[in-house]
Order: sequence, then structure tokens, then C-alpha cells
Amino acid sequence: MTRTLDAFALSKLRGLEARSLRRTLQPTHRIDGLWVERGGQRLRSFSCNDYLGLAHHPQVRSAAVGAIEDFGAGAGASRLVTGDHPLLGALEQELAAFKGTEASVVFGSGYLANLGIIPTFVGAGDLVLLDELAHSCMWAGARLSGALVLAFRHNDACDAHRLLETHRGHVANVLVATEGVFSMDGDLGEIAALSALCREQGAWLLVDDAHGLGVLSDGRGAGADLPQGRIDLHVGTLSKALGSYGAYVCTSRAAADLIVTRTRSLIYSTGLPPASAAAALAGLRTVIAEPELTRRPLRLARQFTRALALPEAQSAIVPIMLGEAHRALAAASDLERRGFLVAPIRAPTVPDGAARLRVAFTAKHEEQDVQELARAMKPWLAQPLARQLQMEAQA
Ligand SMILES: *Cc1c(COP(=O)(O)O)cnc(C)c1O
Repeated sequence: MTRTLDAFALSKLRGLEARSLRRTLQPTHRIDGLWVERGGQRLRSFSCNDYLGLAHHPQVRSAAVGAIEDFGAGAGASRLVTGDHPLLGALEQELAAFKGTEASVVFGSGYLANLGIIPTFVGAGDLVLLDELAHSCMWAGARLSGALVLAFRHNDACDAHRLLETHRGHVANVLVATEGVFSMDGDLGEIAALSALCREQGAWLLVDDAHGLGVLSDGRGAGADLPQGRIDLHVGTLSKALGSYGAYVCTSRAAADLIVTRTRSLIYSTGLPPASAAAALAGLRTVIAEPELTRRPLRLARQFTRALALPEAQSAIVPIMLGEAHRALAAASDLERRGFLVAPIRAPTVPDGAARLRVAFTAKHEEQDVQELARAMKPWLAQPLARQLQMEAQA
């Protein structure tokens, strides 16, 4: 039986809809880093990764506008052709200096970075060990590489060790990959333990610190307290705390040179626009100049977890676990009616049955915003089932 493309798409969508897993786009106007406008309603957002509010920072905006005026809107070609604007090199130097590595390479996005970097270093006959909760783009890069890809239990370096021992004899190179801050759970990666394991076993460590840069250790990110060289590949994005767009890997000179020579998502994709590079550079300089600003998101997240007697926040991200997808949707719409935008997260972003609200705190929130959200959230925490059903019926 042949089916039209539309018939196929519609039947897929019906199935997803029945499980509360259909997704839709919702035009949203981010007004100032705190307030957003959606469907004619003004909401206080707890769903932005712009942790320091730098997307709207005067210096970041004017750096972007200035770069557009001076250099135009687009890069015009791959970095390997004519798209390597000098601002990218300047940004790479400052990122490498900030992270304490020899070199850095800037990419079009975090997704492109992981998608391209992993296959640059491992392939058929090699092994990639990923934390089971690693971001989709690390899985995509690992699978694309052709290496054997195995998951270790979340933050369990012993499990990673066990897998390494089992397979070490049959593979050439081993890459272990984890996150600095887990994007949907807000907990920190076991970087010190994994780094020790990698050194002992001659494996390489990749840490994606998309949510740690700008937020942990005065902005320096996860693993900032480890001796230099313990993380082989520090990946991060320019699109979260730095308020811009694009991504980076900080690493050794040799590894950076190989990436420039071989990484397909760098070679065959247009360079980052000069305005994004200029904004990221201004964002990075703000992070360096204002350590007090970088401490705010975590401080506010901890006020929230204290107010609700939840385990203490370790990052700017606090998950409110709700179980089934429809409950996360109901809680999000209840909060939206109360003027808060809090993203519901469902499968396949998180495991089935582990749907949640993902609350993200930023330097733009005030203590009062945090207390008001905690009050509105309270009924959704640990309530008797009857009350939950009643609230869902109303939502
Ligand atoms: C957001 C995110 C990415 C993707 O970065 P983009 O620059 O938005 O493509 C990659 N890894 C992790 C862990 C993320 O949270």
C-alpha cells in the first residue's frame, strides 16, 4: 500500500496527539529577558536559557548592531572559504583564555558542534560512552560516528568503568561524553570522577557545558576547579548565558587544528554571522567583568528550592517532576493562567513517564518573582491524587 506524504504525516500526528506528545510552535515575543508576550498575554518567563539577560544587554545589542552596520548580516560562506570573519578568531582567543585551553573553535550552533566533533575523533572500531541523559545532539554525533555507542547510568562513573573494562580490549579509541549541567534535570555532571576514569583508561572526555557557562564558578562553568587539561573537549553554546547564537569547543591546539580540517558541520556549513560573534564577545566580556551577575541565577534557584523544600538547586535549572505528559501540560497551563511561563518537558526529550516542568532562573528575576512562582507551584507538588485530578479537570 502506498500512502501520500500527508496521510503518513497525519496518522503520525494523530498517534502523538493521543499521547499528549504533539508539539506546536507558539510565537513568543521576549520583551526584556523577564517578560514575554504570547497569545496577547504578558507572562513572567521561567523558561529562557538567557541566564544573565544578556540577549537584551545594551552592550551586547550595540555590539551586534555595530557588526551588522560594519560587516553586513551574513557570513557569506563557510569559514573555510570566505566566512571566517576576524571577529570569530578574536572570540576564539578570548574563549580559550577564559576556559584555560590552548585553542577554541566556534561553530554555527551547539547541535552542529556535537554532531560534528564526535565523529572527528571516533569512528568504526572505537567506543563512545554517553551519560544516558546526554543531550540529543551528543547521541546524534555519536551515532553518526559509526563507533560502538553505549550509555552509562546517569552520573554513574562506576557503570562507565564497568563498560570500559568490558569493551576496552576490542576497541581502539574511547570517548566519554557528559554534560556540565544536565539540561532537563539541573544536576551537575560527575566530571571529576569521569575525568579520573578517562586518565586511568586512556580515554578522552567531552563535557558539554551549555548550561554551566556563565552560571557556575563565577561564570567559568562546570569543571572550572579541575586542573587544566582534565577535560579534553569543553563544548558550550553562545546562545544561552552569553545571549547570542553559535557554539564553541575549547581544546588543545592540535585537536582544534584537526577540527578545522575535518569536522563536517564546520566545513560544510556557513560561518557564524559577524553580529552573533560580536554579541557573544560582548556577552563573554560582561561575564568576565561582572562575577556578581553570574551568581544571581543559582542564588534565586536556591531560594525557590528552599521555599518548596525541594533538594537544593545545583544550577539555574530546577525540574518539577510530574510523571505523565498530560500532567506537565496541565500544570503549565495552570501556571500560564496565573501569569507564569514555565515549559512543560515531555518524551522524547525526557524518558516516558518522567514529564516535568523545567524552571529556569535568570539574573532578571527578583526575589519576589521567585516567591510568587513558588506559591503558584505549590499545589502541583506532592499533592493527593484526588486533588491532582480535580486540578487537571479545571485546567
Ligand atoms: C541547548 C543545548 C545544546 C544545543 O545548543 P544550540 O546552540 O542551541 O544548538 C547542546 N547541548 C546541550 C547540553 C544543550 O542544552
